[in-house]
Amino acid sequence: PSSLREVMAEIPDIHWDDIGGMEDVKRELRESVELPLLKPEVFKKLGIRAPKGFLLYGPPGVGKTLLAKAVANESNANFISVKGPEVLSKWVGESEKAVREIFKKAKQVAPSIVFLDEIDSIAPRRGGGGDSGVTERIVNQLLTSMDGVEVLQGVVVIGATNRPDILDSALIRAGRFDKMIYIPPPDKEARLKILLVHTRNMPLDKDINLQKIAEATDGYVGADLENLCREAGMMAYRNDPEASLVSNSDFTKAMKVIKPSVDQEVINFYE
Ligand code: ATP
Repeated sequence: PSSLREVMAEIPDIHWDDIGGMEDVKRELRESVELPLLKPEVFKKLGIRAPKGFLLYGPPGVGKTLLAKAVANESNANFISVKGPEVLSKWVGESEKAVREIFKKAKQVAPSIVFLDEIDSIAPRRGGGGDSGVTERIVNQLLTSMDGVEVLQGVVVIGATNRPDILDSALIRAGRFDKMIYIPPPDKEARLKILLVHTRNMPLDKDINLQKIAEATDGYVGADLENLCREAGMMAYRNDPEASLVSNSDFTKAMKVIKPSVDQEVINFYE
């Protein structure tokens, strides 16, 4: 059997305002996922097709999972999250069966969003050699399963990857993952918004200027900024276990420990 023991569905506790920045992406997902799921009649009436597959790509830690969770929550949809490697099995036929199980569950609990994280691990370019047709069969099953779902019946598939370059191109044909959305590292304005999210419950000293911190954190993705805020809080505690404020110097010290995870080379890879 694959390591996917049971397909679980839940409504995640993430809202749009838990995500800093990415206003364009949020708008796009609202329009093309939330709207068809909440108001399928609009699409039916106007005779427009809603895309059923979205592929979010970009460096690690930029918030791809967070976006998928928020769109599920805000669409009142069940969220079925599966990491590519969980589907893989060394037993013949088990990986395909796991894919079928995921889609069967998605239809049962519709409206639902199937989130396939690390999708490159189950759908690398076919015929890449090195395997015995296993990925070929999984990709075929995934294509068949996606062909069998309909947004207007309440199932949307969101894939995520850090490696768009190695994906099987059949996946991105019309009617499958036909919307590719690049999630870039946050710019200065987005970093400020992310810092605001992660300091929401922090007692900040008056000397803190989040704008300056946003300017000084080029290359930090959302996950890095979250770590930075946590580390700053811990600095305050280490400095004084009775501390009730987090100060600017706590952030400065934290920046020496928590480093940016993207540089120009990474950005060039995606853009
Ligand atoms: P991976 O490719 O590693 O799975 P990802 O792009 O899916 O990464 P997430 O798992 O969504 O990234 O983000 C990791 C954590 O970083 C989130 O739980 C969140 O706390 C924080 N984070 C990332 N992006 C943002 C953002 N735009 N706003 C607020 N928090 C963020």
